Amino acid sequence: MEKLHMEIQGIVQGVGFRPFVHRLVSEHRLNGYIQNTSSGVELELEGERAELERFAAELPLRAPKLALIEQIRTRYAKELMGYREFTIRTSKTELLRNTLISPDISICDDCLRELRDPADRRYRYPFINCTNCGPRFTIIKDIPYDRARTSMAGFPMCDDCAREYHDISNRRYHAQPDCCPDCGPRLFLLDGTGREVPGDALETARSWLKAGRIVAVQGLGGIHLACRCDDPALVRELRRRKQRDEKPFAIMCRDADAAERLCLMSPAERRILESVHRPIVLLHKRQPGLEHLSENRWLGVMLPYTPLHVLLLGEDLDALVMTSANLSDTPILYRNGEALEKLRGIADGFLLHDREIQTRCDDSLCWVVDGKEYPARRSRGYVPFPIRAAGSRGGILACGAEQKASFCLSRGESVFPSQHIGDLKNLETLEHYERQIAHFQRLFDIRPEVLACDLHPDYLSTRYAQERAAREGLELIQVQHHHAHMAACMADNGLTGPCIGLIWDGTGYGTDGTAWGGECLMGGYERVERRGTIRPIPLIGGDRAVEERERVAFALLRDAGCDTGEIPKAAVYEAMFRAGLNCPLSSGMGRLFDGVAAILGIKTRASYEGQGAVLLEAVADSGEEAAYSVALSGEPLCFDWRPMIREIVRDRRQGVATGTAAARFMNTLVDMAVEMARRIAREAGIRDVVLSGGSFQNMYILHRLPGKLREEGLRVYHHSRVSANDEGLSLGQLMVAEHRRKKD
Ligand SMILES: [Zn+2]
Ligand SMILES: [Zn+2]
Repeated sequence: MEKLHMEIQGIVQGVGFRPFVHRLVSEHRLNGYIQNTSSGVELELEGERAELERFAAELPLRAPKLALIEQIRTRYAKELMGYREFTIRTSKTELLRNTLISPDISICDDCLRELRDPADRRYRYPFINCTNCGPRFTIIKDIPYDRARTSMAGFPMCDDCAREYHDISNRRYHAQPDCCPDCGPRLFLLDGTGREVPGDALETARSWLKAGRIVAVQGLGGIHLACRCDDPALVRELRRRKQRDEKPFAIMCRDADAAERLCLMSPAERRILESVHRPIVLLHKRQPGLEHLSENRWLGVMLPYTPLHVLLLGEDLDALVMTSANLSDTPILYRNGEALEKLRGIADGFLLHDREIQTRCDDSLCWVVDGKEYPARRSRGYVPFPIRAAGSRGGILACGAEQKASFCLSRGESVFPSQHIGDLKNLETLEHYERQIAHFQRLFDIRPEVLACDLHPDYLSTRYAQERAAREGLELIQVQHHHAHMAACMADNGLTGPCIGLIWDGTGYGTDGTAWGGECLMGGYERVERRGTIRPIPLIGGDRAVEERERVAFALLRDAGCDTGEIPKAAVYEAMFRAGLNCPLSSGMGRLFDGVAAILGIKTRASYEGQGAVLLEAVADSGEEAAYSVALSGEPLCFDWRPMIREIVRDRRQGVATGTAAARFMNTLVDMAVEMARRIAREAGIRDVVLSGGSFQNMYILHRLPGKLREEGLRVYHHSRVSANDEGLSLGQLMVAEHRRKKD
C-alpha cells in the first residue's frame, strides 16, 4: 500500500469535478479525500501503487468537459493515514467567497438520452439538467452557490430529486438546478396579446413556427426571436419589425449535420460548434441564397444548448432564425414581463417559463482560427470563468471601452471578464453595465482598489471610472486605447513582453488627442512607443464620416490628387474641407477600409460600425495575389496610402473587377504590416508580434498576415479567449494598470 497526493490546478471547481473523482475513485476502489483549494483541488488516496498510478493516468483523460486542468502535481509516499472510505471535504476556502462559478453549460449526452427515453421520468422535460450541464451563471442571485440563492429557490425538490441530489454516486449529486416535471419549472405559451394558449405549449409553438409565425423563446441568458429561416419574406418581415436592416441574423441548426448542409465546416469548426460552450460559430455559407440572413459570406450558426431548444427543433425542423429579442440597439430582453410589453407587435407568440433569468447574457460569437475560438463576443457559455494572469495582485476593476463595452475584475491571479454588455450610450445598457459590475464584485468578493479606464474623456466608461475613483478615493489609471488592445492580446497569449503590436481598429483616442487606429506599437504592459501608423485621413463632418463612407472616399481621393467628380456631394465636401469645418484627422484603419469600399462602389451608407471591412472581405477575390505599392517613411514610420489610392483609381478606370481590387487593397495592407513589423523588429531585436483591434476581424487579412510575418522569422499571436475588438479592451486595461499601480 502507498499514499498518492495530487494537487490539480486550473478550472476544476463548479464543473462537477469532485463527483467525477468520486466515481473514478470507486471504480479503482481507493480511499482518501478530495477538497477544493484556492487554486484548484487537492486529493489524497491510498491503495496499491499500480492502482494509484492507473487512477492518476485516467483522471486527466476522463475529466468533465468543462474542466480546464492547467497543472497536476503528484507525490507518492509510504506513510499511510489508514483512510477507511472516500470523502469530499468541505474546505475553509469554500466557505469564503473565492470559489469559482460555472458558466451555463449546454445539455449533456446523458441528459439528452434521458430526454428522449419514454421510460425516463424526465422524458421530454424541457428543464432536465445534471451536474455536468444546465444553467448556472444566469440563474445565480448571490453566493455561496446553492439552490436558495438561484432562480430555483421557488421550486422545492420532490423526494425523488432530493434522493439524487444527496447521493454522491448519482450524476445529479449537488446539482443545484436539479428538478423534474413534478417539482420543477413549467413551460407555457402566450399569444401575441399575452393570453395563455391552452394545450401543449411546445407542440403549439412548433406548429406556429412551421406555419411562419415569429415566436419569442426564453433561452438561458435572454429571450430570442425565432422563425423559419428558409422563407426570405418572413425574415424580411422580422427585420422590419425589429428595425434591424442589415445586421446578420444567427440561426440555430438541429445538429452539426444540418449546419453542414448550409455551410462549409472544418473538423475544428464542428468541434467548437458542438462544444459545451455552444457559441454561435461564423461559418462560410455553402451556397448563395442565404442573403436574407447575412449579406456577407459568413453565417452565424449555433446548435441547441438547452433541452427546450432540442425539443423545439425536434426531428423535423432543421434550422430556425434565433436572434436576440431586442429593439435595434437596446440590450437583449430577459424578463418575461418586459418581453411581453416590448415585443408586442413583434412576436406573434411567447414560449416562456417560470425559471427566471437573473443575469442577462447574450450568446457568444466566434470564428474558428487555427483550431481555436477567435471570439467576436465572449459571453454565454464562457462567462464568468477567469483568465489567469501570472503575478497579478488583484483588486483592479478595468472599465473597458464604450460601444462594445465590457469590464474585468481581478482577484489574485484570476481575471474575470464580464459578459458582452453592448453600447453604453444606450441608457438601459449603461444601467446593465453598472449593475453587472456590482454583481461581479459580490459574486467574487472583490472590492477594487484601482480603477482602469480609457483615455477618451467622453467614454461613459471613463466617466464612470473617474466619478467612482473620486467618490471612493481609489487609484485611477487611464490607458491608451491601442496600448490596451495590445496588452489584451499579450495577456490572451500569456506573453510578458516586449512585443510589437499591430493594432488596427476604427478609432481610439491617441495620446496626442487625435483619433488613432492604424498603429504599430512596441513595448509591454507598462509602456509602449508608437513606432508606426498610417497617414491621417480628414474626416469631413467628424462622426458623420463614419456613417457616410463617401465622405471618407472624397478625402482619400482629394488627398491623393485624384478626380472626385464621381462623389455625389463633392462640392459640399470641398467647401467644408477648405473652411476646415469639423474635419478632425484620423489614422483609423477602419476609416481606410470604409473609404476604399466607397471608392470601389460598394454600398456607401454604413448601417453598422466596421461594415466597410466586412463588405470588402465579402467581395474580395481570394485567388488574387497582386498588391499596390507600399510607401513607408518617417518616424514613427508612416504608411502613405496616396500612391495606393491612385493605383486603385487606375484599376477602376481600366475595368479591373471590384473583387480583384478589394483583394489587392487588402494584400497591400498585409505587405505594409509585414514591412513595418520587419523593420521595427530588426531594429529593436524583438520577435513577438501581437495582432489586435477590430480590423483583425477581417478574416481575409487574419488568414494572410500571420504566415507572411512568420516568413520574416517573427512569432505571431492573435486572440483566442477575448475579442480583438473593443470588447477585449478591458483585459488589456487591467494588465496595464496591474503593472503601473502604486507599489506598496
Ligand atoms: Zn446533464
Ligand atoms: Zn423532482
